[in-house]
Amino acid sequence: MISAEQALEMILARIDILEAEERPVLDSLGQVLAEDVFSTIDIPPLDNSAMDGYAIRAEDTRGASPRAPRVLRVIDTVMAGSISSCEVAPGTAIRIMTGAPVPKGADAVVRFEDTDEAGRQQPGESARPPEIGIRREVAVGADIRRAGEDVGRGSWVLDRGAVIRPAEIGVLASLGRATVKVIRRPVVAILATGDELVNAGEPLPPGKIYNSNTYSLAALVLRYGGVPRILGIASDREDVLVNRLSRGLDADLLITSGGVSLGDYDVVKDVLAKEGEINFWTVRIKPGKPLAFGTVRGTDRTGAARNIPLLGLPGNPVSVMVTFELFARPAILKMMGRRYLAKPVIEAVLEDSIENSDGRRVFARAVVEERDGQYFARTTGPQGSGILTSMSLGNGLAIVPEDEAGAGPGDRVQVMMLDWSQELWN
Ligand code: AMP
Ligand code: MG
Repeated sequence: MISAEQALEMILARIDILEAEERPVLDSLGQVLAEDVFSTIDIPPLDNSAMDGYAIRAEDTRGASPRAPRVLRVIDTVMAGSISSCEVAPGTAIRIMTGAPVPKGADAVVRFEDTDEAGRQQPGESARPPEIGIRREVAVGADIRRAGEDVGRGSWVLDRGAVIRPAEIGVLASLGRATVKVIRRPVVAILATGDELVNAGEPLPPGKIYNSNTYSLAALVLRYGGVPRILGIASDREDVLVNRLSRGLDADLLITSGGVSLGDYDVVKDVLAKEGEINFWTVRIKPGKPLAFGTVRGTDRTGAARNIPLLGLPGNPVSVMVTFELFARPAILKMMGRRYLAKPVIEAVLEDSIENSDGRRVFARAVVEERDGQYFARTTGPQGSGILTSMSLGNGLAIVPEDEAGAGPGDRVQVMMLDWSQELWN
């Protein structure tokens, strides 16, 4: 039996980073930048006011105090988005709003609070008074945001290889960029196998069960940035399997579920071996021991021949999700150009017990909570690999190493966090 690390290494060795493409900025969340981004403009483009107040010449405020305000003649008002045609000459001021370009002649802004404007206006009025008293001295440059202070024209802004987060989307938009060059999202084709499966929304005949793997897998693909393509359900017949699979042969990754456990191992194995090169492994993990990986002959976007990686996950709904996190997620992230492929792992104090009877690495569904600066983990209850609600109740996978017979209350365990969402558990 190979270890989880060995399996992942063999999988990643056959996964390539995809090519870059130009995408609308708003579609690029979570993707990796494939260009260095420089600014072609100054941000802000012009000197502008940081406050609502009066644009003045600092010199005109010399000696000003609440008791002896300097009175200036108000010659204009300027709002954000427009430019005043007036110039601030000695003895004058222009009423200015936050973000409005600083008018010619002015070298500082005095905020409303440091003027006697309130006393010159009727309550509720906001018109510009003919004159304004300045009640304190201000220095040159006060409350002015300088052109290019955030980003200068021609300067470097974002690195190739950066992951696009909401902040990067905002920065790109602030540069006026409508599109950006990113490594494209992988198309992941998903095929469920099993004569017993029926899709949600349909009646459930006797002996059948609802197909959940297609749905959890598609959601996982979406969550990690890929584009799911659902190939539906294949029965356990060879011709049906081949036919369904053939619709996914231009995807970047194929994921099947089911048909790799001992009972129906053979039909899937035969089919996959005919269509490409498939290895069947038993991986030293629980859940998720049987796993297939290999490549099938397909085509790329231009129709040229290409080998497509195929990951044959087990059928049990929990095994599917756990093996996806362990093996499919890193493959998808690598295709997207991501460098950090591991889920965050924390150390927690176990509050109940996890058994490990057959020397595999156990991933127990657990609820992790933080109390007094320390993480505590407890299992979600019955851990059968068919009990999908155990995934829904937990936020992490508590790990018991291969060579340990189990873990009990008070033991420190590593927990792979699936959702770093403690807010759900408060
Ligand atoms: P298999 O590996 O095909 O033998 O499947 C193992 C177990 O998982 C069986 O109990 C199947 O009924 C169940 N199973 C397989 N595929 C799915 C699916 N897509 N949705 C829900 N359960 C499944
Ligand atoms: Mg099956």
